[in-house]
Order: sequence, then structure tokens, then C-alpha cells
Amino acid sequence: MRTITVLGATGSVGASTLDLIEREPGRFRVRALTAQQDVAKLAAAARRTGAAWAVIGDETRLPALREALRGTNVDVAGGREALIDAAAGADWTMAAIVGCAGLEPVMAAVRAGGTVVLANKEPLVSAGELILAAARDSGATLLPADSEHNAIFQCFDFARPERVRRIVLTGSGGPFREWSTERMRVATPEQAVAHPNWSMGAKISVDSATMFNKGLELIEAARLFPVDPERIEIVIHRQSVIHSLVEYVDGSLLAQLGPSDMRVPIAHTLAWPDRMAAPVPPLDLVALGRLDFAAPDEGRFPALRLARDVLRAGGARPAILNAANEVAVAAFLGRRIGFLEIAAIVAETLDRFDPPAPGDLAAVLAVDAEARALAGERVKDCVV
Ligand code: NDP
Ligand code: MG
Repeated sequence: MRTITVLGATGSVGASTLDLIEREPGRFRVRALTAQQDVAKLAAAARRTGAAWAVIGDETRLPALREALRGTNVDVAGGREALIDAAAGADWTMAAIVGCAGLEPVMAAVRAGGTVVLANKEPLVSAGELILAAARDSGATLLPADSEHNAIFQCFDFARPERVRRIVLTGSGGPFREWSTERMRVATPEQAVAHPNWSMGAKISVDSATMFNKGLELIEAARLFPVDPERIEIVIHRQSVIHSLVEYVDGSLLAQLGPSDMRVPIAHTLAWPDRMAAPVPPLDLVALGRLDFAAPDEGRFPALRLARDVLRAGGARPAILNAANEVAVAAFLGRRIGFLEIAAIVAETLDRFDPPAPGDLAAVLAVDAEARALAGERVKDCVV
């Protein structure tokens, strides 16, 4: 039996992962489940799966977790260090914490070896080279769960990458795909998190609305696949059926299609290199009728240009973009800034801060902290 750890077990990706695991109880044994705050959901998941460990990041909630799991065989722990410790040692680990808060747990999992499945894209953006180097050292296998990158992974010829001419990263365009800048200026958090195709956590939903999600994914693709970043193109495909494509030098395009349900790419990573059944209805192509494609609009969505710029510049720039975006998204969700200020704050933080390339994990975390402080100052200056 494979041992499984789910980091961020109480989130959207965490729930999809547990749904697949719980359908095949004889195949997987749950080692550790983690959450930050949600004791009730974490305890319920630990009970259902018979997890060996349940770990809560917010240590003040440890007594409540202990109480909720009294009388079970689940061991409990709390606090940041416990969460990082719990990340190491499973055969298969789902990294589904949101944000750069997942970086240290991801690094712990990667350094321990085994298979590490990355839904949590922010650590790859901020510290992609370090994560890849750690995986080379430990022999860990990294698999992408982000639907686009999982699609590319399924189509990419890693043995002969020189045969790949282009990667086409598809994106739905988010809930504001057709909105004017003036309309976006007064967009509410409720409107921003109402994604047309996917049901996801609040942060990535706002990222989809600003298109920072596609920008982060551009950087994520450049980290994961051996192609010149200039050969990664973003195309808007509103149906979210083609999850991305790989074009070969002979003009062939290979695509992965599927329903917009994260259980499809997660099932791929759970069974890889085999396949397993996922509880999703088959895609009805005839009912679908058509697939549409359009160019992205960098005028209305400056996130795309900012992401392309930081990818070209490299060094600390992607970590700054990511940190400033996390701060700005939280401020927008807290109704402290307007929607358009998210990209403005990211751009200004990038203008004000240009440290040397971080060489290790501590240096990345320092850049992340400094960028958060600068973005936080800018948030305070904003009046909604
Ligand atoms: P959610 O917000 O739904 O879940 C986040 C999880 O992380 C929760 O378990 C939460 O615990 C935990 N968490 C939050 N903050 C911290 C912290 N500071 N330290 C430790 N754990 C923390 O997010 P999603 O599931 O939507 O997304 C997770 C990641 O996967 C993101 O990086 C996202 O970009 C990526 N992703 C998500 C997709 C989706 O469909 N949702 C698709 C592709 C990628 P608690 O519940 O206790 O707060
Ligand atoms: Mg995605």
C-alpha cells in the first residue's frame, strides 16, 4: 500500500484528492493530513481516512484538534514546524497549500524523496530552481497537478525535447474575460471568485480574474518543461476543455482534453505511470459542439505582461511578483483595495525592490518577506 500525505487537505484540491483516495481504501494508506485553521474539516477527514497524523498549522487550534480526535488513533500536532516535519516521508505527497506558505513544506517533501505532486504553484514561481535542484539531489519525482501542466506533461516528449516547437498554455480568461477596464474597476470579491468553469479556493479564483493565475502558470511551465520560455504561448479558450497543447517541429499539436474537474489531473498523478478510474462523467463532445480560441488581452490584463517580464528577468523577480500578488489578493478579498489595484501594487512593488538573485531557501523567504512588507505599505495607502 502506498502512503499518502495531503498538505492543504481542507482546501479545494485537498478535497478532490481525498475523494479519489477514499474511493480506493485498499490501495492507499494516509500518513498525514494538514490544514492551517479548519479543525472541523481536518478532524473529519482524518477520521474518515484513518490518517496516522493530523497537523494544524495554527498552533492555537491544537487543543481543539486534539479534542475533535479524542478516542481515535490519529496522532495530532500543531504549529509551523510540525507542519513542515509532517510534509516529509510519504510515498506520494499532494502539495495543495495555497501560496508561498507551501514552500517550506514542499521543500521538506522533495528533500525526503518519493513522489511530490504540485498543485501549489506559488513555490515553483518563487523558488522553482531550488525545488528542481532538491528533487535531482533526493531522487524525488515531481508531477504537476495544475490542469494545464498536467496536460503538457501528458503530451511532452521528455526524451527528445528538441522536437517540441511550442507549448500552448490555454486559459479560460476568467470571469472578467469580456469585461471592460471600467467595469473591472468596481468588481467585487464575489464577482471575482465566481469562476465560470472551475470551483476553486478564493485566492486562485481571484488570480483567474486578474489573469495572474495564467501568468504564474507561464512561469510554472517554464520551470517544469525544458523549452525556451519564449516558446510558451498563452491562448484563451473559454470552454476549458483543451487543458493545453504541445506542438512538435513537424506541425503536429498534441492536446489533452477533459472535463473541468481537478480529479482528472489528480487521478493521473495518483496512478502515474498507470491509469485509474476517476468519478467524472465522460466529456460529451457533441453536446459541447465547438471550441473557441482567442488571443489574450495584455491591455486589460497587465498581469500577463508582468509575468512575462519577470520570467525573462529571472533572479528574485518572480518571487517578488508572487509575494506582492498574494498581499494584494488578500487585501482585495478583505475589501481594502479595488480590483485594478492588485496589478498596480504588483507592478509598483517590482519597481521599488530589486534584490540580487536568492541562492538558497532562506534567501527566497527573505525576498518574499520584504516584498510582502512593501506591498503591504502600498495597500495601506489605498482608499477604496
Ligand atoms: P484553498 O484555499 O481551497 O485551500 C488551501 C489549503 O491550504 C487549505 O487546506 C488551507 O487550510 C491550507 N493553508 C492555507 N494557508 C496556509 C498556511 N499559511 N500554511 C499552511 N497551510 C495553509 O486552495 P486551493 O485548493 O484552491 O489551491 C491550493 C493550491 O493549488 C494553490 O496554490 C492553487 O493555486 C493551486 N491550484 C488549485 C486549483 C483548484 O482547482 N483549486 C487548480 C490548480 C492549482 P485551512 O482550510 O485550514 O485554511
Ligand atoms: Mg491551472
